[in-house]
Amino acid sequence: MSGEGQGTRAEGSAADIARDESRQQDPRPSSLVSGPASADPLVIRRLEFLGGMAQAGGWRPEPTLPEVAFAGRSNVGKSALLNRLVRRKALARVSKTPGRTREINFFGVNDQFVLADLPGYGYARISKDRKAGWWSLIERYLRESSQLRGVVQLVDARHDPSDEDLLMFDFLADLGAPTLVVATKVDKLRRADVAARVGALADALGVDAEQTIPFSAVTGQGRDELAAAIIALVDTPPWRHS
Ligand code: GDP
Repeated sequence: MSGEGQGTRAEGSAADIARDESRQQDPRPSSLVSGPASADPLVIRRLEFLGGMAQAGGWRPEPTLPEVAFAGRSNVGKSALLNRLVRRKALARVSKTPGRTREINFFGVNDQFVLADLPGYGYARISKDRKAGWWSLIERYLRESSQLRGVVQLVDARHDPSDEDLLMFDFLADLGAPTLVVATKVDKLRRADVAARVGALADALGVDAEQTIPFSAVTGQGRDELAAAIIALVDTPPWRHS
């Protein structure tokens, strides 16, 4: 029962994440772990791989907790961003496992919300059939998830949005889904150019530059800002019912 098209509950991988967690525990005595650390808007206490949705309408976790989805073309830096966000390596390891790269992978965070890692788009050589399957998986997930609170849309800070970025963005706007834009890999820009690039990206997408978070998985820039914005989304009722 491995391979694609299965839509599977998580087994085993949760243990990987637990192992990863214990490796990364802060070695300092707990009395020292206060001050700046307590300012972290998203302290990860528990991270759990819940499973993957392989087909439109296939298995998905019970929609009991708020959900936030992450979208972007492949190679935009989504895995690196997610790892930074949750301060673990295990998350992207799961999402990059062969057979899981085209699934929507769900992770429970702190029993507080569910993070949905959407499969990356933009493979040049992907067949039309596969593209259609990919899109219906994502479209139905976004349309039908009653607890979805918003989408984090990643775009590469160095490039103008691709046609697929724009299509995705328009779709989210039509849906009315709250959308956070993250400009990735800003460490690859000259510091003096960041504001102008982010401004140009925001213009191309038709959003305010203030709504766009410059991010680097290498330096950690933007991590806390993104975490705070996600918590704000999670704490807001679903837009479809408000
Ligand atoms: P994904 O396909 O969207 O999950 O992209 P990955 O997270 O796997 O990243 C694709 C490539 O970009 C990898 O070689 C990463 O090391 C690199 N990368 C990702 N984020 C950053 C970043 O913030 N800065 C830099 N310099 N490289 C990055």
